[in-house]
Amino acid sequence: MSDGRRELILEELGLAPCWVRRELLTADPAPVELTPVITAPPPSAAIDAAMETVAAPTQAAGGRPSRMAQVMPAEKPAEVPAAQPAALVTSPDHRALAIAQLDWPALQAEVAACTACSLCKSRSKTVFGVGKPDADWLVVGEAPGAEEDRQGEPFVGQAGKLLDAMLASVDRSRQENVFILNTLKCRPPQNRNPHPDELALCAPFLHRQVELIKPKVIFAVGRFAVQTLLGREASIASLRGKLHDYRGTPVVVSYHPAYLLRNMPDKYKAWQDLLMANKTLEKHKD
Ligand code: URA
Repeated sequence: MSDGRRELILEELGLAPCWVRRELLTADPAPVELTPVITAPPPSAAIDAAMETVAAPTQAAGGRPSRMAQVMPAEKPAEVPAAQPAALVTSPDHRALAIAQLDWPALQAEVAACTACSLCKSRSKTVFGVGKPDADWLVVGEAPGAEEDRQGEPFVGQAGKLLDAMLASVDRSRQENVFILNTLKCRPPQNRNPHPDELALCAPFLHRQVELIKPKVIFAVGRFAVQTLLGREASIASLRGKLHDYRGTPVVVSYHPAYLLRNMPDKYKAWQDLLMANKTLEKHKD
């Protein structure tokens, strides 16, 4: 990374200015380019297909090339009930089981078409996630805001700019080696806090995304991400600085970028969290 870019990132993080040797002060810093990459969901696919998979667990669902395909196994037949009466197939448990069988394109389509809770009525676009679906680093945020709802991409507002700068400080980006998603796929009206039933109904999407992405480290920002992944209600301050576990994947807890925009001194702690995630990743490299 160039010195200029590094300087800009540190400034964005509230960690600049830093000491620089006088003879290095001549060149103009290079501009930081943080162009977002949008992953558009494919045309809708009905959950019925997955329901059929649930009813007939030995039948393999369609896979995508790469390692996504490896996670569509007959790994879960024990959890999967035999054929169910049609009325039962729509119960929350069966919905979650059906979602747990979807491959990546079907999951994207299912999120795009979701009407499981009332947030579907006020949303403009669902926000599935962005980045490399086989990234070893996964960022889990909370819920789309106004701009994310408009664009269908997570973290594109002010908090997103800061998140991009934070990731760049550890040589990470949504264009290259990170996947970014939210706990809720639809915007709560007026950016209110998510309701427990909304979190519960959206959680199967998050669980399946993590299962398919297979990250080596999860960077969870904000209370609702942490609650959903870890089932912990404790404060971020009390959970950060330690390594947590989500179904075998290490989780680093940190402050939400929107919080950091209002609490500059904690940016330094968030930077420490990023370093911890990086270090964790190094340890878990194959
Ligand atoms: N905050 C989030 O948690 N996610 C977004 O996508 C935007 C803001």
